Amino acid sequence: MSPLRRFPRIFSVGPELLKPNSLAKVPTADLFTKLGFFTHPKPGLVHWLPLGTSVLDKLTSIIHRHMRNSGAEEVRMSALSPAALWQQTGRWTGTELFKLHDSSGSEYCLAATCEEDITAVAAAQIASYKSLPLLYYQINTKFRDEKRPRAGLLRGREFIMKDAYSFDVSPEAAMESYEEMVAAYHRVFSELRVPYVKAEASTGDIGGSLSHEWQYVHPSGEDTLFRCTGCDAVLNVEKTLSFPAEDPANGKAGGPVSVEYFVTDDKNTLVCAYFLSDRTLLPNLLQDEVPEIDLKCGLTQDQILALFSGEDALLSKNVIRVMDLRLHSRSNFPDFPIKFVSRALITTLTDIPIVEAVHGEICGQCSEGVLESSRAIEVGHTFYLGEKYSKPLQCTVSVPGNDGTLETVNAFMGCYGIGVSRLIAAIGEINRDLMGFRWPACIAPWSATVINASTDFSKSERVVSELHDAGVDVRCDDREGLGLGRKIKETKLVGIPLVVIVGKNFPIVEVEIRGKKYNDLWKSLFAQDSEGWEVEYLEDGTSDIKHKVHIERLGSVVASLLKDM
Ligand code: ATP
Ligand code: MG
Repeated sequence: MSPLRRFPRIFSVGPELLKPNSLAKVPTADLFTKLGFFTHPKPGLVHWLPLGTSVLDKLTSIIHRHMRNSGAEEVRMSALSPAALWQQTGRWTGTELFKLHDSSGSEYCLAATCEEDITAVAAAQIASYKSLPLLYYQINTKFRDEKRPRAGLLRGREFIMKDAYSFDVSPEAAMESYEEMVAAYHRVFSELRVPYVKAEASTGDIGGSLSHEWQYVHPSGEDTLFRCTGCDAVLNVEKTLSFPAEDPANGKAGGPVSVEYFVTDDKNTLVCAYFLSDRTLLPNLLQDEVPEIDLKCGLTQDQILALFSGEDALLSKNVIRVMDLRLHSRSNFPDFPIKFVSRALITTLTDIPIVEAVHGEICGQCSEGVLESSRAIEVGHTFYLGEKYSKPLQCTVSVPGNDGTLETVNAFMGCYGIGVSRLIAAIGEINRDLMGFRWPACIAPWSATVINASTDFSKSERVVSELHDAGVDVRCDDREGLGLGRKIKETKLVGIPLVVIVGKNFPIVEVEIRGKKYNDLWKSLFAQDSEGWEVEYLEDGTSDIKHKVHIERLGSVVASLLKDM
């Protein structure tokens, strides 16, 4: 038997996986391991097994194709990254780095992301503006000491990431590279046929000034997104400005008020943020009012207040009080913990939105639409970085100035991630139904399962070779001692898009559709630069359609069915 025909092993299909009610209770991460896609020797670690490897190979080849088509060149960076680079960018103290040292004591981390290393490589390579633009990408394992690894591949301590990095001579050229990558992301995510959104996001630890997250809206997600019904903006909660739906004077403004303390970079100004106790402060919104605020000073509330204790300190230091716009003069403020010397040193800013939005509030961007919230799974992130890494790592480029002489400027960068292994977990979770997984055909472990309902194996051999000749990735389940019904259930459980049943009507065979069929609306929506929020209408959900097909036409029928799945 040729290896192409062998049926990859499916492990421990216990009775609980064969009945819809009990299958529904099996968490997706467990379903993956029970069926043998991968196993986790410890939470956050993964051994990829044949079924999982097959999905991973197909997914990575889609990403490779779109990266290359957008002009990106493939690199493979070392998994060990020298500490010195991270010290130069100030990220060596990052709590998610796995750190280690060699026998001579030199320190490294396992690559958690690659801005430092790739910028050092580019710095050595780029001679003049003529070498730019430069766009590198790789697909490999990244390591992060996640405190709470979750749901198998969704949050691993090792995970597979596609990361790309662009280097340009100016901010304008860097934005062009950014937009090209955004277009490539639309192509990748629309090919995967799982509805996605592109949301404005904060730049977090990676830094830079502009970023978008690529998200799958789903209740199991860890992120909160808002969409405005007026201006259609889609925003991560960290970027969502909101106004109360009703005048604070009529609302709960009289309720208890909480305060959190911050300090500026120079440690000379105490920033006190006041907000209603039943809301969550969004510290990065304070940055718009107090740009020099240090949101990562690492000090506790008591340590911050201690900087402003003695009277001497208060003679030279300032206090800025920022009041959330939901507060009111009748609100129930906590006592000010410091005995201040002069009121002149205190500035009070009122009517500033500084808390996380909640569903139903008014959009802070257009001031008209209502904010609708949803949970979402982040599967990609694109950042405009500017000079954030090129400056400390001296990645410079010489460009002709106005008078024709060469001047040296820092390269302008962007970085672009896709969580490849997380995508597999997310698509598995989002697409599963009462029968099991349901893969988009482009990443299914294989496209069709041929099942023989008679004892004459020559017929199924003929079917397999017809499909093989038509370029269909097919497996034949000719295991003995297992009934037809059980084999059909298993291939549906694994999520294979088509089942081809070879029975007594041969040369007519039956093709049963398991995969989701997508209609033309999907294609037209994603051909544009759509933000893709309207997800419900995109899929016709047919799974029980059966086609009777003559063997002579089987290859072309199956190939055309798969195109829509
Ligand atoms: P998260 O907020 O989920 O921790 P992140 O913002 O730290 O993600 P990035 O540094 O932007 O993630 O990494 C790029 C992509 O890699 C993310 O969009 C996500 O899809 C994926 N990713 C990040 N951390 C993990 C992880 N621990 N396990 C699996 N995938 C991950
Ligand atoms: Mg993270």
